[in-house]
Amino acid sequence: MAESGGNARGHAAVIGGSIAGLCAARVLSDCYSRVTVYERDELPSAPASRAAVPQDRHLHMLMARGAAEFESLFPGLLADMVAAGVPMLENRPDCIHLGAAGHVLGTGHTLRDEFTAYVPSRPHLEWQLRRRVHAIDNVEIVRRPVAEPRYDHARQRVTGVLLDPQDRGEPEFVPTDLVVDAAGRGTRLPVWLEQWGFERPVEATIDIGIHYASHQFRMPEGVIAEKVVVAGASHDESLGLGMLHYEDRVWVLTTFGVADAKPPRTFPEMLALAGKLLPAHFNAALAQAEPFGEPAFHAFPASRWRRYHKLDRFPAGIVPFGDAVASFNPTFGQGMTMTSLQAGHLRRALRSDDLARELNRATAKTTYPVWIMNAIGDVTFHHATTKGSIPWWWRPSGALFDQFLGAAETEPVLAEWFLRRFSLLDSLYMVPPPRIIGRTMAHNMRLWLRERREAAGGGRDRGAGGTSRVRGSRRWGHLPLAGDGSPPSRRRRASRALRSP
Ligand SMILES: Cc1cc2nc3c(=O)[nH]c(=O)nc-3n(C[C@H](O)[C@H](O)[C@H](O)COP(=O)(O)OP(=O)(O)OC[C@H]3O[C@@H](n4cnc5c(N)ncnc54)[C@H](O)[C@@H]3O)c2cc1C
Repeated sequence: MAESGGNARGHAAVIGGSIAGLCAARVLSDCYSRVTVYERDELPSAPASRAAVPQDRHLHMLMARGAAEFESLFPGLLADMVAAGVPMLENRPDCIHLGAAGHVLGTGHTLRDEFTAYVPSRPHLEWQLRRRVHAIDNVEIVRRPVAEPRYDHARQRVTGVLLDPQDRGEPEFVPTDLVVDAAGRGTRLPVWLEQWGFERPVEATIDIGIHYASHQFRMPEGVIAEKVVVAGASHDESLGLGMLHYEDRVWVLTTFGVADAKPPRTFPEMLALAGKLLPAHFNAALAQAEPFGEPAFHAFPASRWRRYHKLDRFPAGIVPFGDAVASFNPTFGQGMTMTSLQAGHLRRALRSDDLARELNRATAKTTYPVWIMNAIGDVTFHHATTKGSIPWWWRPSGALFDQFLGAAETEPVLAEWFLRRFSLLDSLYMVPPPRIIGRTMAHNMRLWLRERREAAGGGRDRGAGGTSRVRGSRRWGHLPLAGDGSPPSRRRRASRALRSP
């Protein structure tokens, strides 16, 4: 299982030239004398959608953490994107409308900490990364599908890749010292492991049944301040949407359904959904929207985490990377950022004596907190199911989080904390620290007292406008806090369980 350290280690091959493959190639280029990225798809020379990456026609949020990680991998990337017209939101929370689990977060306030978001379209980001990888002397990107890696049973390691013959007779063998499998969700590594005499990894899945429908459009500049608009699905509303202002004045509107709910299929129907889910000023702006191109559709049945770190034995000479390890609920917009974090893991693991073990473990450590919060959110708010039984502490944790989100509607410090964690900044754990929990409880208590006062006052004077404020304040929590009947001690244990991988 040992993988030797040192520089200039020979030839590394990467299967897949998408976001993960490009990040891996960048890291490997510092350690291997030669890196070849094999991509089965035609790679456009300008930003454009690709057939093999159907998700690139749908909303892709680049989290602030991902932007920073990509910049450290590819210095100058962010400045180049901005120069190319990619919107940059520097300390502009008013440009973000964030609706999560039925709560509209009060993020439209001045932030206490710096916060910069970038809004490239997915094809633009991939193109920016690709042209940088193209420019690296010892990296070659070759348009050719990999049929499979070759495994040497005697040496117990992968020794190369067999390239698909593409009607040219026998598959071509290319010797390698390392293969990185960045082939995305459709990876065949579990099957290959089994063929080579290893265990398949256990797969955790969250059956979320997401359906996407997207349309691009243009509208006059400045009709709304927001450039990032998210209205996630909730316990009572299985449809949601996202809207991003990309480069070239292009907007994308993605509508989606969870739990197999079908989103609208035409642009007018999408606008009608926006009218239902977004505040009124969006509708006035969207009335001026000019759609172009065709709508795009995509189905995402389940989030999937292949737990390679649990395997006792793993072959030398190959590692999994990117969505090939974990593909998350795409409506949370985390996949590319999680891949960028893996690039850091790969760099560090290349310095160790056991590359696969180190990389798989480090990936698991960063995957766990994000996976588990997504799972709790999906089970609590999106009616998702899992193959096994749902841990007892998920639903109470979700209900507690609902209370937090309710408070964050009108408490800017809480809203900022959520926005930063949602953007995967500061920590990957969406677990509020005691300071934030205290603030949540105090704020919800204030709201509750005000609700009571206004209800009493409203009884005496119905014309005072108290009714609408009472209705507003009812939003501080949709789900019963102890809806499962769990006692407080159980809830404390839930909080502890959430923190342990
Ligand atoms: C609908 C949807 C929406 C999403 N939204 C977001 C979002 O808002 N924000 C975000 O950060 N992430 C989002 N993601 C996730 C994001 O797209 C992925 O995390 C990201 O693309 C990294 O994936 P990857 O490079 O591992 O795999 P992919 O992007 O799937 O690429 C795999 C590549 O491998 C190639 N390949 C496969 N097999 C072979 C072979 N045998 N030989 C050669 N080449 C091969 C394919 O052609 C492809 O180019 C979304 C995903 C989906 C499905």
